[in-house]
Amino acid sequence: MSSDIGPRRGLMLVISSPSGAGKTTLSRMILQRHSDVTLSVSATTRAPRPGEEDGVHYHFVERDDFRSMVNEREFLEWARVFDHFYGTPRAAVQQELENGNDVIFDVDWQGADAIHDQMPNDVVSVFILPPSIEALRKRLEARPGSDPEKVSRRMAGARNEIRHWRRYDYVIINENIDQAYAELENILLSERRKRLRQLRLENLVQELLDED
Ligand code: 5GP
Repeated sequence: MSSDIGPRRGLMLVISSPSGAGKTTLSRMILQRHSDVTLSVSATTRAPRPGEEDGVHYHFVERDDFRSMVNEREFLEWARVFDHFYGTPRAAVQQELENGNDVIFDVDWQGADAIHDQMPNDVVSVFILPPSIEALRKRLEARPGSDPEKVSRRMAGARNEIRHWRRYDYVIINENIDQAYAELENILLSERRKRLRQLRLENLVQELLDED
């Protein structure tokens, strides 16, 4: 969908949810339908899995390089997950925002919090909730390779994530994926109209106020 608001500063759309509530599907739908939205590509020290491409799924880096990126403050946030390090590069995000593109972050509540701390005026955060605990369980059970132990571990993880719902600007209950998508797109299009993001307003208003 095209935007008719002229030059604008992009926004950071931070989307979190318990696994199984639909955040990855919704992020993909936004990316497919909006050419001016990009996905933040994290750096990681883990090895690529089959099918993963450097620069697309992750920037795969050596530990020493990751460490120096941390020292140089090149990450908006970073974390150790099991044996590997993951971080969100700052420069690429800043460039996209200046170019008028939005950036999606598919992160957990801790990542969302850290990103918000760094760039509070640019972040719009959305939490996706499942409609019920039974619906969440069904979605997790339907995942390829799921077994009862994995499902109960994921259910515990989901409850842990859901506890942090109050930190978010918006909450969408994903009962129906098309409806949830429409709500997310509405949020995106409305947030683009925030005064501070519309870069032509100062000039336009000046012209409107100038005397003949
Ligand atoms: P995986 O190795 O399976 O791709 O990801 C492992 C975990 O790392 C996932 O929970 C994922 O959300 C997390 N992760 C991926 N990128 C980042 C990042 O840039 N920052 C943080 N804090 N976590 C990340």
